[in-house]
Amino acid sequence: MSSTSQWIICEHCDSVYTPVPLAKGQVARCLRCEAILARGGPMSLQQLLALSISAALLFVFANAFPVISISLQGLSNETTLLQSVQALAQGQISVIAAVVGLAIILAPMLQIILLCWLLLFALNGRAAPGFKACMRALEHLRPWSMLEVCLLGIMVAIIKLAGMLDVHPGLGLWALAMLTVLLILISGRGIRRLWDDLDGVIS
Ligand SMILES: [Zn+2]
Repeated sequence: MSSTSQWIICEHCDSVYTPVPLAKGQVARCLRCEAILARGGPMSLQQLLALSISAALLFVFANAFPVISISLQGLSNETTLLQSVQALAQGQISVIAAVVGLAIILAPMLQIILLCWLLLFALNGRAAPGFKACMRALEHLRPWSMLEVCLLGIMVAIIKLAGMLDVHPGLGLWALAMLTVLLILISGRGIRRLWDDLDGVIS
């Protein structure tokens, strides 16, 4: 019986293909729907781990520094991500605070912890304890991690308020922007290759 890792299934239309070795820069596309199946020259595990650690540092910066600062006639105020969630919790729509907290703080934090955990073991050629559960948790977390939505929201707020008040993006916002890109890069196709890499050692 042939192993399932010998096939690639298109995520969009379920067509099945045999993988071909790709050189760096080459892309394999689905014949039916043109979706990208695989890219040549994937990142090494070391690179993935380095990016995950960078993401962890950026996450700390994004939460420690204010994302936006507003000033008007000498009065100024700045807020971090956590403070914005706390502000929501005090209002009438406190349920929203829980959802926002999950989407912009808890889900990305869990993603980063799981990525570092899985990659640290994979680097030594071993499957991390709870490998399957962690990989599935990462897939389930992806739709809940909405940093890009948060980033877009803050940028719209900055542009809208810029006419009336003195609004400045904070250091936290730059960290948030870089973190968003990194998480998209690592948590999708990047980490899924561990299923193939560790094929023989997953218990
Ligand atoms: Zn397809």
